[in-house]
Amino acid sequence: MKFLTKAELYEKVDKLIEELDLTKESYPLDSVSLAQKFFVNAEITYGAFDGLCAILYRGRRSTSLKLNSRRSKLMQNFDCMHEIIHYFLHTDIESFQCISPEGGIKINDFLEWQANEGAAEALVPYRLFIPMYVSLCEKNEETAVSELSKIFGVTSRVILNRIDNLSYEIYQYKVLNIDIESIELLSKKSITRKNISFLSAHTEYCARCHNEVADDAYFCPICGNNLLEDESTKIGIGTVSYDSIDMLPDMRAISCPVCGTEDFVRHGYYCHICGTPVANRCTNSGKTDINGAYLEFPCDGLLDGDARFCPICGSESTFLKAGLLKKII
Ligand SMILES: [Zn+2]
Ligand SMILES: [Zn+2]
Ligand SMILES: [Zn+2]
Ligand SMILES: [Zn+2]
Repeated sequence: MKFLTKAELYEKVDKLIEELDLTKESYPLDSVSLAQKFFVNAEITYGAFDGLCAILYRGRRSTSLKLNSRRSKLMQNFDCMHEIIHYFLHTDIESFQCISPEGGIKINDFLEWQANEGAAEALVPYRLFIPMYVSLCEKNEETAVSELSKIFGVTSRVILNRIDNLSYEIYQYKVLNIDIESIELLSKKSITRKNISFLSAHTEYCARCHNEVADDAYFCPICGNNLLEDESTKIGIGTVSYDSIDMLPDMRAISCPVCGTEDFVRHGYYCHICGTPVANRCTNSGKTDINGAYLEFPCDGLLDGDARFCPICGSESTFLKAGLLKKII
């Protein structure tokens, strides 16, 4: 067991993929059935526990894996692949108790980094992922994240992390037009260390949902992230768009999102047939934002068709409240 570069780690994952007999057609992978085949005498069970996502024990005659039943199926798919990577790479260790990779916990442990990055590469291999992501973005596909999460059987969070962790590789493919087989793999740390600045000319986006943010927004209109906080935005090429209700320049929906009529009063706020909001507005009528900070003006402006939250005060939008748009994270 040793330190590995991203390129070395991905090479090992390629070997694992080969050992497991996987091809392009095998995606999305089902980690639990792969573990069943791969572990020596696998005993896979489920239990509800706090904080941990999985426990793996490599016994002499059998391997036991316990997955957290409180986590979603897609999360368990990742958790289980994380344990497959431990099992495959860290052969001199007998047991692992792994903490959930979400929730902002930063783990500096290199074994955990290998298991997380390795699981991400196994489930969402960059050679398949980058061309798909770039083509969906070029088509301006608003459902790119949810589509990619379906294709690879992982949560939206994993897809967004993948975009982040592969930003240098995406840049080489998308901007420099380098063939996917020839791009150089570099970890975030090496990019900083080598002082490669490849992102300066690009857009500012929300660090949580990757939506491009306007200069005058205090909150991300897609996920509600507080943009005044440190590290809440990033500069780069990893932006994505989210589904939206199509609007006309009068900031009213082209047609009623529920009954489809186009025949409502264009300066009104609701459809006269079914009562659905046809204008997207902030639901806060008070004079403080969601953190209690004083607002000089109440929020009475009209929001874009994709806004789940008000960019000024962070409150929910009428389109989100009415269920016309889904929360994305
Ligand atoms: Zn682990
Ligand atoms: Zn956001
Ligand atoms: Zn209607
Ligand atoms: Zn507001």
